Amino acid sequence: MSDNTSIFPQRSQLPTIDQIHTNLRKAIDVANQAKQFGKHPFGCILVGPDNQEVLFRQGNINTLNHAESTLCRIAFDMYPPEFLWKCTLYTNFEPCCMCAGSIYWGNIGRVVYGLTESRLLELTGNDKENMTLDLTCTTVFSKGQKDIQVLGPFEELANEVLKDHLEFWNGD
Ligand SMILES: [Zn+2]
Repeated sequence: MSDNTSIFPQRSQLPTIDQIHTNLRKAIDVANQAKQFGKHPFGCILVGPDNQEVLFRQGNINTLNHAESTLCRIAFDMYPPEFLWKCTLYTNFEPCCMCAGSIYWGNIGRVVYGLTESRLLELTGNDKENMTLDLTCTTVFSKGQKDIQVLGPFEELANEVLKDHLEFWNGD
């Protein structure tokens, strides 16, 4: 096995709770914009090592092209993995297994989410546009070889996360 420690430099400093709230609210705003454009209400941002600078923001595109996986692909083309390891992806809902895989391969070192995938399942039910896969991102990451840090949920922001989702889905 080759020495791959170089793609894992020291992680960025842990964000403060104020930084977490500020950045999650920015992700919620992106989700709200996506909804206004007729997309599903999901949004994420990528924040730099200083826990403040927003490098990318991405809303949902469609059922397959989720906000987080799309952002990962764009960011990976723009920045070296060593840098992305020090960045944090903020998203209104816990990343699905596809997006968690993209975060893993994109070498993004930290994920912060508002509410859990299980909570999303309660909202979407079996809506054909979002047949939620109830699999935690930590389960996906636990099978990998990278120590990706996951912070969430943040229930104190639940009302803000949920405002674009209540009455949006049509599942049973
Ligand atoms: Zn996803």
